[in-house]
Amino acid sequence: MTEPLFRENAYLKEVETLVASAEPRGIVLAATIFYAQGGGQSGDQGEILLSDGSRIAIVNTVYDADKRTILHVPATGARLPAAGERVMARIDWDLRFKRMRAHTALHLLTAVLPYPVTGGSVGDGEGRLDFDSGEAALDKVEVARKLNALIATNAAVATRWITDEELAANPGLVKTMSVKPPTGGGRVRLVEIEGIDLQPCGGTHVARTGEIGHAEVMQIEKKGKINRRVRIALTQSGP
Ligand SMILES: [Zn+2]
Repeated sequence: MTEPLFRENAYLKEVETLVASAEPRGIVLAATIFYAQGGGQSGDQGEILLSDGSRIAIVNTVYDADKRTILHVPATGARLPAAGERVMARIDWDLRFKRMRAHTALHLLTAVLPYPVTGGSVGDGEGRLDFDSGEAALDKVEVARKLNALIATNAAVATRWITDEELAANPGLVKTMSVKPPTGGGRVRLVEIEGIDLQPCGGTHVARTGEIGHAEVMQIEKKGKINRRVRIALTQSGP
């Protein structure tokens, strides 16, 4: 198992750690700041720096079959480090920060549109959610206005943990029907946007909503009789 440092602090850009194992399909580190693909958010990219100064490009980060060990996928043909070697792991921060902003903006979107979420994905400065909104008419301009008003409150975003039993007793916390929160581990991570939104999520988020910047609603598309797909894009970074 890899210690997932990104869960407690999404702002870590690099970490010094030890190589646990290395294969062409993935390098395992004792601890990592690389977010592993899941919950609609892509795996991080970046590089691993070896003590001799050479660099290994990391093209993706995924969970191994045990869903606990994190695999840093090296570029094809990359030289592999030795087990036990001390390395510096560094993420592509520009890319990650775009995803943190987009991911947090999608949480706010679920507060603007309080319907069950049936799907979604976090892109690089953009994203989408599918809502089971029934026959409700969703207006692009109105959704954008409400979303930017929530961003402008600069609300704090924090995480905390509850037990599986507490989550089972509060089913209303789960807005996303397609991505069930990972239970069975005994505890579930909650992401709270102060006074606005609370839901289980394992992704990376900004610390305050103001960091999202300005959001635009690009498209509201009919996906079947009661489903609406809402696409947003961030057009400017926060202060
Ligand atoms: Zn999230």
